[in-house]
Amino acid sequence: MTAANLAGKPVAEALLAEVAQRAQALPHPPRLALIRLGEDPASVSYVRSKDKKAGEVGIQSEVHALPEDTTQEELLSLIARLNAEGSVHGILVQLPLPAHIDEAPVLLAVDPAKDVDGFHPYNVAQMWAGHAQLNPCTPRGILEILDFYGVDVAGKRAVVVGRSEIVGRPMAAMLLGRDATVTIAHSRTADLGAVTREADILVVAVGRPQFITPEMVKPGATVIDVGINRIDVGGKGKIVGDVHPDVAEVAGGLTPVPGGVGLLTVAQLMANTVTAAELQAAER
Ligand code: NDP
Repeated sequence: MTAANLAGKPVAEALLAEVAQRAQALPHPPRLALIRLGEDPASVSYVRSKDKKAGEVGIQSEVHALPEDTTQEELLSLIARLNAEGSVHGILVQLPLPAHIDEAPVLLAVDPAKDVDGFHPYNVAQMWAGHAQLNPCTPRGILEILDFYGVDVAGKRAVVVGRSEIVGRPMAAMLLGRDATVTIAHSRTADLGAVTREADILVVAVGRPQFITPEMVKPGATVIDVGINRIDVGGKGKIVGDVHPDVAEVAGGLTPVPGGVGLLTVAQLMANTVTAAELQAAER
């Protein structure tokens, strides 16, 4: 068996086309404020790609690039100003923040209605309760992939490997919301292979190159590889996932890395921004 290639590109394109239409239908263009601190190259590049994608789909975005030594108070006062600004619909604080900033109060400061990353405790609680409107982008984007390729979730055994607040936990909550029977595995899980072999839908967000091998996968399972790992191959850098390529011989469907889940994360941020703008317009 060779697994179906669950490529992210057509899914992201379809989602972005829908987002552009919804953005146009609003009374005012959606506006997204992107905040980053310091010059961490990954953060600079992520914010740049979010800013660029926003422009492509009719979302006005603005980048607040603050110096590395910005204080907690300065950051909180910028967030308060953006919360109060009626024309700003979405606020994203690029993580990770420099070590001197306490992340929890920063996430708590963002108005939940403008929390396009879905990290505010109010939105997290809503998500676990099964009625969130703003969900974390990477796992929400994975639901888009499953829907696009017609993968039924209800009643299926889903296993999520990884329990981070950004991917693993929200993914489990969302699969539960879609009526899957969900198991969350992590570094302390005993006999991980026995757990992953139960999965009809296996989502892997571990951060270890090619960690999931064919014998850990149930034949025909849908495997979603969230990992982005930079490895050295013959002196050259290469991006690989958390799933070994040989899993394609066993799985029914597999997302590629690169070109899979990664493409959905930014697209879903745009979708969340339009959702936030729609909800705010409806409240006025
Ligand atoms: P974290 O490091 O925050 O979490 C990793 C999780 O994997 C932890 O819960 C950890 O368990 C678990 N884990 C580590 N080792 C093992 C093991 N041997 N067996 C089972 N579980 C293990 O990572 P993230 O969730 O932030 O990211 C995971 C991967 O996804 C990374 O490669 C990251 O780059 C990628 N990523 C990709 C995105 C995209 O857009 N495609 C977006 C976000 C992340 P424990 O909790 O016990 O320590």
